[in-house]
Amino acid sequence: MNLIQEDLVTTDAVDWLSTETTRVSVLRLDKIHPVISGNKWYKLRYYLQEAKNQRKKIATFGGAYSNHIIATAAACAQEGIQCLGIIRGEAPAIYSPTLQDAAAAGMDLHFISREAYKSTKLPDGISGNDYYIIPEGGYGIDGARGAATIPADAAKFDAVFCAAGTGTMTAGLVLAAPAATKITSFSVLKNHHNLRAEINALLPPEFTNRFEINNDFHFGGYAKCNTELIGFMNELYAATGIPTDFVYTAKLFYGTKTIIQKRLTNCSNLLVVHSGGLQGNRSLPKGTLIF
Ligand SMILES: *Cc1c(COP(=O)(O)O)cnc(C)c1O
Repeated sequence: MNLIQEDLVTTDAVDWLSTETTRVSVLRLDKIHPVISGNKWYKLRYYLQEAKNQRKKIATFGGAYSNHIIATAAACAQEGIQCLGIIRGEAPAIYSPTLQDAAAAGMDLHFISREAYKSTKLPDGISGNDYYIIPEGGYGIDGARGAATIPADAAKFDAVFCAAGTGTMTAGLVLAAPAATKITSFSVLKNHHNLRAEINALLPPEFTNRFEINNDFHFGGYAKCNTELIGFMNELYAATGIPTDFVYTAKLFYGTKTIIQKRLTNCSNLLVVHSGGLQGNRSLPKGTLIF
């Protein structure tokens, strides 16, 4: 089962981000598929396999602009698996573009209140007997196992920077990297105090704490942004042709640029993981971004 074109992934050195002492390369996971973009495919692969083995439909959770929801919808469509998206919030009169696309891919959508969503209880009439449940954001050991297949080639780098929501991708990168490669995970949530413990929970004991967490570039919290971040996204795109999203990768690249300019010691070769997923940008007014 391979739904993506891994041969489209590139690892390019990016001069605009590099300095005299640190050469920055970007792993372009945003290129693997127009919809099942970035880390989501890697996180989903073993869950999809397991659902097929158990001959179950898939149910999972997300918000109206969720990269995870659209990736699940598209991957299930390609694999011929029926799927259900349990969406946070009341059903809107007009679906977000992300939800329109998820529905067009064949995903059933079920809206639940924010309170009910927090309990992550299955809605009435939906049972684990029929549905294989993928946790929100693909968080879980199978998600980390899948993320460990991201072709980061971390042994070639002194350090790897990535964005973290649930931290599942970070766990996968840690699993696949040699201990000498320093992995830093940039949290896009504010006050996500449990992130370290949540990543460690996905790792065998010998891998725990083999990563740093950076909390300095969340820009106020999940899906928060300001004009500075938007300006940076446009600047990055104009200079390098790399599109980012304001929820995850823009914060990662902004943090990278800031840290690099201050001088990063003991790192001549840095990899930044572009984890794909540009859905969030669809919530911005037209014309905000130049791409
Ligand atoms: C989902 C997502 C992340 C976060 O991945 P986690 O495994 O939840 O930490 C990072 N970047 C992008 C683009 C994403 O869509």
